[in-house]
Amino acid sequence: MPWAEGLSSSDGRIVAVGRMKDVEASVGPGAAVLDAGGRLVLPGFIDAHVHLVWGFELGSWIDLEGQPSLEEVRRRVAACARDHPEEEILLGHGFDYDALDAGRLPTKEDLDDVVSDRPAILTAYDGHTGWGNSRFVARALETMSEAGREIGEMQRDPGTGEPTGLFLRTFDLTPLLPEIRRRQSVDGLRRTVAAASAFGITTAFDVQVNEDDLHAYEELRAAGGLVVRMRIALYHPAGTTRDAYPRFQALSRRARDEWIDVGAIKLYIDGVPETRSGALLKAYEGDPSSRGPTVYEPAEFEDIVRDLDARGFQICTHATGDRGVRIALEAYASAARTNGTSDRRHRIEHCENVDPEDVSRFARLGVVPCMMPRHASPDLTSRWREALGPERTARGFPWRSLLATGAALAFASDWPVASLNPLVEIQDAVVRRNADGGLSSGRLTLEEAIHAYTRGAAYACFAESTRGTLEKGKFADLVVLSKDLFQLPGEDIGTAKVLRTVVGGRIVHTDGAPLG
Ligand SMILES: [Zn+2]
Repeated sequence: MPWAEGLSSSDGRIVAVGRMKDVEASVGPGAAVLDAGGRLVLPGFIDAHVHLVWGFELGSWIDLEGQPSLEEVRRRVAACARDHPEEEILLGHGFDYDALDAGRLPTKEDLDDVVSDRPAILTAYDGHTGWGNSRFVARALETMSEAGREIGEMQRDPGTGEPTGLFLRTFDLTPLLPEIRRRQSVDGLRRTVAAASAFGITTAFDVQVNEDDLHAYEELRAAGGLVVRMRIALYHPAGTTRDAYPRFQALSRRARDEWIDVGAIKLYIDGVPETRSGALLKAYEGDPSSRGPTVYEPAEFEDIVRDLDARGFQICTHATGDRGVRIALEAYASAARTNGTSDRRHRIEHCENVDPEDVSRFARLGVVPCMMPRHASPDLTSRWREALGPERTARGFPWRSLLATGAALAFASDWPVASLNPLVEIQDAVVRRNADGGLSSGRLTLEEAIHAYTRGAAYACFAESTRGTLEKGKFADLVVLSKDLFQLPGEDIGTAKVLRTVVGGRIVHTDGAPLG
């Protein structure tokens, strides 16, 4: 029954769905009625990979979105420095390597003459690369010497050993800086959760959470502001030792219900192709010496995965390159053989570049590919294409071939890396284009894209028994849309608005306009 006329719910769960007369017969005389005026109602969207905590921290950062040039970045940073003398550190987010148009990666000197009185750190739109001024580099070196180890993968000039100002894993470094931690607040999280809800998201998987972040979610829930159901993966940074695992397990036991469900661990095996830090089977285009590094040696990674699998965790591995993907698949296969476990639904995040021989292994091993449609857009991939070359570009972001082999594809935004709006992501999946502007054979149908953002994502969150479709017994989590997506040209899908978001039978977002 793909289509229905109405549904009824009680105590947060769907009681009846189908023809209006059957639904009406299922409700009592005092029932509240929401007439959607014939509009399209879908299951609430499920964002299977998003960073709501990290995103709210960015809310107070210098906005470097819109692909500013190097000069424009310098202008925005200078303006912020002038307007905010009270800030101890300047933070910016969203610059795009390509748009800088400098013919090279940026350096600390590019920032020193606009901010020299305090540290400044700018992160790229993908959140990986950080670009700091000399004061920030000095601050980072201090933090590392306090910790007694390298953090954040600071780049150095191979000739002089002098730090260049670039960091390849800034997100490991910035949480250690107290002036950044002070900016975190439950109020900020409340705003980003409300923004997700306004886009029709009813469940979100925050894939990189530490103990403080989890505490913020719990506080928000206690204050009645958690209107999106959360699945959570605890972050396992490089260098985490086994002594941390009992704490991960304790946190997981503490929060396992339909509002906060901590059941997963997030690890990285590689970086991103744009900075040639994704791990490839064959060398990067134009550089026969480099296949990209991995965070762990394959044998070490296999040990870690086996241990976490035995402890009952779902594992989410970040892998963008085909070698990274293969190492993750092999570690999952080895854990299943050794531990005899099944249905752990281990995931690979991004899967941007998958060797053709590995595509069918996802379905065979029960591994979930979690992918972001917007990331495949030609306007965001010029440096990606340059790094991987035409042959790998042609088979990049293989949603279609993964689906064809029976893999359980889940879609996600990766916000704040890309738009939080599921309708924008679904549009990009349906009208996916090649760099030359022609429609890509890798695009999906509207039904497939919606499926990956609802039912597929629910499966990736271990939530398909309660979410992802509108069925009797499942949560009454749904959205009312302003336009019928099935009647719209693909390129207009993103213009539809979410008029109501309902979670557990309760309206948690309304755009204000009456539905009738
Ligand atoms: Zn992410």
